[in-house]
Amino acid sequence: MKMLIEGKLIDKNKKIAVKNPFNNEIIDYVPSGDAEDAKKAISAATKATKSMKEISSRKLSRIMYDIHQELKEKHQEISKLISLETGKPIRDSLIEMDRSLQTLLMAAEESKRIYGETIPMDAAIAGKTAFGFTIKIPLGVVVAISPFNYPVNLAIHKIAPALAAKNTVVFKPSTKAPLAALKMTEIMGRHLPDGAVNAITGPGGVLGDQLVTSDQVNKVSFTGSVATGLSIARKAGMKKLTLELGGNDPLIVLDDADIDAAVLGAVGGSYLNAGQVCIGVKRLIVQENVADEFTEKLVYRTQKVKTGDPLDPETDMGPLIDEEAAINVEQSVNDALQKGAQLLCGGKREGTFFQPTVLDQVQVDMELVQKETFGPVSPVIRVKNLDEAIKAANSTPYGLQAGVFTQNIAKAKKAVREIEAGSVLINKQPTFRTDNMPFGGFKMSGMGKEGVKYAVEDMTRTKMVIIG
Ligand code: NAP
Repeated sequence: MKMLIEGKLIDKNKKIAVKNPFNNEIIDYVPSGDAEDAKKAISAATKATKSMKEISSRKLSRIMYDIHQELKEKHQEISKLISLETGKPIRDSLIEMDRSLQTLLMAAEESKRIYGETIPMDAAIAGKTAFGFTIKIPLGVVVAISPFNYPVNLAIHKIAPALAAKNTVVFKPSTKAPLAALKMTEIMGRHLPDGAVNAITGPGGVLGDQLVTSDQVNKVSFTGSVATGLSIARKAGMKKLTLELGGNDPLIVLDDADIDAAVLGAVGGSYLNAGQVCIGVKRLIVQENVADEFTEKLVYRTQKVKTGDPLDPETDMGPLIDEEAAINVEQSVNDALQKGAQLLCGGKREGTFFQPTVLDQVQVDMELVQKETFGPVSPVIRVKNLDEAIKAANSTPYGLQAGVFTQNIAKAKKAVREIEAGSVLINKQPTFRTDNMPFGGFKMSGMGKEGVKYAVEDMTRTKMVIIG
């Protein structure tokens, strides 16, 4: 596939091969863009800010509905591309596309309700004779950078709100999985003024600085790892930033919990997309008097997870994104085993596949649970009571989401108050998100919120108007 700059599809001699992690076959190539390409895309986006500002909200919304219609017709084709380039089971890729279409529709709706407010000027000294109100205006050029794991949904969570607020976009997908998102932006480009959406491909280390430091860029909206997010924050200078970063979500199971429901939540949250989910269940913090029952049931369910060909509709779990990712998970698991954790099932790697794995007797200071392990691993940490559970939950630098299983409302309320995370879910695993809710982490998990309404708001500036 090609890059999209100012409405034209651009190729380059130097290319990057995009591989299927299931069989290592090359699916397609994308151009290996560089800082010059980033500059061209930013100039095109800057030029297009005029046409986007002048477009009426009614027309813009109509265009977004038209894009939705065309993407809907390509639903199956794009879902298959997601599975081919990421190794995600086709069942989950179809859901990703459903959610992406829904996100786009929400943004099309939101584009018609961007309101300012009336200010009661006479409530302040000197304001007696003045009328005052605010208007929400576009920021200008928005850079959207996305990771490999939900290549369409995470991209559309940035691009659609940016467009809804009449901004222009320079989008950079992950080089590991750029194809489905490029297909989407190609379709968008056909409906929008030239340059309103641009998509460039290439290693972040090569073209990233140009994107995030340019004075012509008014906002960077980034989803990815903490390390990349921090480096962007240090370089970005005077522009708006949204950072949706890594997670290390705990699921707390107390002794009054519905254990079967908690086990289902744990399995759903730990192995979805082979554990490569920012809000995947990364730590199971279980009260010790129910830990034996919980782990026994967890192992039983884990062994039922069917791994295999992502294109097979029966497959529950595919490979990791590449062999390096699988080796990283293997090393973290081995490190925990050497330090005293106990392997209950799984634990083996074969190429890009890592078996769904349950470890017991995991300690809070082990690397496996201090860092974000991006793989299909369920580490069980045994605790005495709720206080210890909350302390363990808060013991990492992350704070994206957290789940608590309990039937006791007082304990649930205490957990909500004391857990440091962007969302706390009661009797539900943290691996849950609707596309309209405010979503975004605390601590090192990020800054700002996505979720269509909140993202659109953040894609605007407020101008105050006073009539004296
Ligand atoms: P990553 O390595 O940080 O890459 C994310 C994106 O940043 C890619 O497009 C990458 O490009 C680009 N990039 C790399 N270096 C850059 C630089 N110097 N300047 C600008 N851009 C740069 O993350 P990943 O491995 O793809 O994704 C996994 C991570 O994302 C996990 O930590 C996960 O938790 C997090 N995540 C967070 C959320 C959330 O909503 N909080 C959602 C999903 C994933 P190239 O890879 O092409 O070089």
